Parts: sequence; structure tokens; C-alpha cells
Amino acid sequence: MFTKTQATLKDSSNVQTNKVYDTVIIGGGPAGMGAALNLLRAGRSVLLLEKEAFGGQMATSPRVENIPGTISISGLEFADLMFEQISSLGVEFELEEVEEVKKNDDNSFSIKTNYNEYVAKTIVISNGVTHRKMNLPKEEEFVGKGISFCAVCDGAFYKGKEVNLIGDANTALQYALLLSKYCLRVNMFTLFDKFFGDKVLVDRLLETENIFIRHNMNLVEYLGEDKLEGLKFQNTETKEFIEIPTDNVFIAIGQVPHNDMFKDLVNLEKGFIVTDEHMETSCPGVFAVGDTRKKDVRQIVTALGDASIASFYCDKYLSLLK
Ligand SMILES: Cc1cc2nc3c(=O)[nH]c(=O)nc-3n(C[C@H](O)[C@H](O)[C@H](O)COP(=O)(O)OP(=O)(O)OC[C@H]3O[C@@H](n4cnc5c(N)ncnc54)[C@H](O)[C@@H]3O)c2cc1C
Repeated sequence: MFTKTQATLKDSSNVQTNKVYDTVIIGGGPAGMGAALNLLRAGRSVLLLEKEAFGGQMATSPRVENIPGTISISGLEFADLMFEQISSLGVEFELEEVEEVKKNDDNSFSIKTNYNEYVAKTIVISNGVTHRKMNLPKEEEFVGKGISFCAVCDGAFYKGKEVNLIGDANTALQYALLLSKYCLRVNMFTLFDKFFGDKVLVDRLLETENIFIRHNMNLVEYLGEDKLEGLKFQNTETKEFIEIPTDNVFIAIGQVPHNDMFKDLVNLEKGFIVTDEHMETSCPGVFAVGDTRKKDVRQIVTALGDASIASFYCDKYLSLLK
């Protein structure tokens, strides 16, 4: 998912470990890049740390159609444009995973990654969320051996074949529509008897001839010895068990936050970071934006909105420091 533009610009990274940054941003999805954009425009020194590739979840979205002003754009293309924009403003960045954040006695923050340690006057947490797992035996073992959490990444392996998909909300709906374009047949299994995604996607799904929906199906077991060989479901209405022989399944059942490392620094609720309207957390100088924070609507534009608000108040906070 690391694009050509990002790879080229990576070579020009100019990070300094002995510098006190105005802001260190943890996570380079739309929220993190949005915060970088606004803080750089305010003249602040910004270090953006990303553990995988800039763009975050958005980069796995085949078609984004809800960004005002862009009729339709691939998530990867949009990520590239955002990265190019902040690079042109001189963002400092590094492909490193943040492992620990500590507040220092002088109210600055130390940010330890898998390679370095940095110091900043403020922090923006934008580490997003990751795929929720079924947490069934063999799940970890069968990833790459039949189980996938990303249709954009792995769908092409099943061109012309029959595929299975579990999920009932927007990500699952988008995955089903994508797979239906080049797979012979998409079997979609949902836990309840309805979908929870946008009506426009549900309508599109129902009109697609090679998508077959089976409601009230609870996956209870992955079958197979060394690789996926089948799926065992229980019908939640009839209680009947059904085994489906197959070598593949795409799981799209939601997202989970990963904020354990911040639990002594900021308030969390059900794992999500609690913020006020300024996107400020319970710890002064620490802001949280995007999917990682407690909120109802997790989208690219809401992540960008959070980022814009956080940057404004982060800049204000920095102005008040001596
Ligand atoms: C398949 C799919 C399709 C979607 N389609 C749409 C759509 O069409 N429209 C829409 O509005 N939204 C869509 N979304 C949702 C949207 O992508 C998210 O709401 C948005 O990406 C959230 O942005 P974020 O920056 O908060 O988090 P993320 O995108 O999750 O980015 C977080 C980043 O932080 C990095 N990170 C995490 N931990 C660390 C760490 N410890 N150190 C350093 N870096 C770290 C991650 O690698 C990641 O790059 C889609 C999501 C998916 C999965």
C-alpha cells in the first residue's frame, strides 16, 4: 500500500531526534495528515509518525464517494494527494511505530518508537482502529491461508471464483460490491436479518446479481487442518448447524481501537479516547482525532473535521506556552 509518491518522498525525510517538536502526531491516516496540514500552515514544527503506510484505513477503500467536491476517488489516490500536500509544506515524518508516550516534569512529552525517542510540546493521537476479529480458534493461523480482513488487498486472488464474506455494515457492503466485479459469486453472511450500512450501498448490493445474501448466520468454527477448508455456521433462528466447504472468507465485522499505551495518560471509554469539543483529552497538550476517539460517526470527513479543530486548539495551546 506504500505508493510511489510516498516511497520517493520517504527518502527526503529529515527527522531530528535531538529537537523539541511543537507537535508529534501518532498515526498517518486522514486524521493525522489533516492535523499535520493545519499545524504546518500555522507555522508549527511537526513530526508525523506512521507505523505502516500513510493513508490508514482509507488506503484500503476502493472507491470513496462521500468527500464533498470529489465525485469518486480511490482511497489510495486521496491518501497520496494528502501526503504530497503535507510534504510540500515540509512535514517531517518517519515510518516508525510508537510504543510509549510519557509526560515529562516540564510538561513536554517523550515519545518512544521502535527505533527512536522524540520530545514534543504537544501530541496529536490519530492511531485509528483496526479490523475486529471473530476470535475463533485457528483465526490467526489461517490469515493468508484462506482468511482475509481486506478485500482490496486480497480480493484479486479469487478472480473468477466463488467467495465468502461475513459482515453487515459499510465496509462489508463495499467489499461485497468490489468482489462482485471480478468474482463469480459472492456469498454474504450476516448475523442479523438486516444491514447496518448506508442505504445507497444496500440498494446497490441488492441490485447486484452475483451477490447472494444469507441472514441470521453466526460463524462458529473455521474448518481445516493447515489451511481454511470450510466454515461452520449456526442459524440463529433455526439453531441448525451448517457447514460450507470453501478455501476463503473475508471478515468485515467492524473495528477496534488500540489505546492501551495511553491509558495512564488520557481518559478512555470502551477503549476509545475521550475528548472535549476542542479534541483535547483529559491531559492538557494531548489531542485525539479521527476513529480513535469516542464518537458516533467514523468517516474520512469527520476525521478531517476533528483534525482541523484539534490543530486550531493545539496551536492556541502552543501560543500560551512560555
Ligand atoms: C474498507 C474501508 C472502506 C472505507 N470507506 C470509506 C468511505 O468510502 N468513506 C469514508 O468517509 N470513510 C470510509 N472508511 C472509513 C475511513 O477510512 C476511516 O474513518 C478513516 O480512515 C479514519 O481515519 P483515521 O486517520 O482516524 O484512522 P486510520 O485511517 O485508521 O489511520 C490510523 C493510522 O495510524 C497508524 N498507527 C496506528 N498505531 C500506530 C502507532 N502505534 N504508531 C504509529 N502509527 C500508528 C496506522 O497504521 C494508520 O495508518 C472506510 C474504511 C475501510 C476499512
